[in-house]
Amino acid sequence: NEKAVLLRVKGLKVAYGGIQAVKGIDMQVREGELVSLIGSNGAGKTTTMKAITGMLGASDGDIEYLGRSIKGRGPWDMVKEGLVMVPEGRGVFARMSITENLLMGAYTRNDQAGIAEDVEKVFGIFPRLRERKNQLAGTMSGGEQQMLAMGRALMARPKVLLLDEPSMGLSPILVDTIFEVVRDVYALGVTIVLVEQNASRALAIADRGYVMESGLLTMEGTGSELLADPRVRAAYLGDE
Ligand code: ATP
Repeated sequence: NEKAVLLRVKGLKVAYGGIQAVKGIDMQVREGELVSLIGSNGAGKTTTMKAITGMLGASDGDIEYLGRSIKGRGPWDMVKEGLVMVPEGRGVFARMSITENLLMGAYTRNDQAGIAEDVEKVFGIFPRLRERKNQLAGTMSGGEQQMLAMGRALMARPKVLLLDEPSMGLSPILVDTIFEVVRDVYALGVTIVLVEQNASRALAIADRGYVMESGLLTMEGTGSELLADPRVRAAYLGDE
């Protein structure tokens, strides 16, 4: 009684000019899963996410979403179908208010009533955003901007949410908050792919995980299997 595979990556290769950043990877994500992708700087995690969401073209391999190849389709198309990325560095519109940023997240929709309802839902998940709904996004703290970036992504009604390093640059207490928020969004039933430098936290909340090294996936397992693996502990969790 396994859940359907929503996302399947097959033999994916991505290059920047002559540099191969992703060298042939296979991964799959089932409905309702939280899958973490960990690995050191430059391993190719962000490149993988960008290829999945259509921001970068693949040089080889295929990506299937909801059972169909999405090769060659652009980000707008994918957002409309519910495959939504929250980029590293958040990318909020600094000179727009919080509410305006949320409405930008609904740019592929035109059901005004549903959009208004979803703004309220996002305010329900992030009360902090409601308190500051007229504040300019650029004046918010890093943690608040991360919440806004996630709220904006939720406005697209994602089936699969790709989060690129949501804890980056945040103070320890805000890191706790952001991981709680990721759990909350997962509890809503959204399938999540989480890219993180913070390997222990990312694996602790994951159903499954992959380890990426130099453009290849080198390990795969449940979150707890990977957390217990001596190679993962030595390379990513600071164990001797
Ligand atoms: P980090 O955790 O540091 O963000 P990452 O695992 O997400 O790392 P990528 O950002 O995917 O890694 O980078 C993979 C490789 O591709 C790196 O060697 C990087 O220098 C290279 N790369 C990334 N973006 C570009 C680009 N626009 N042009 C050329 N090379 C790039």
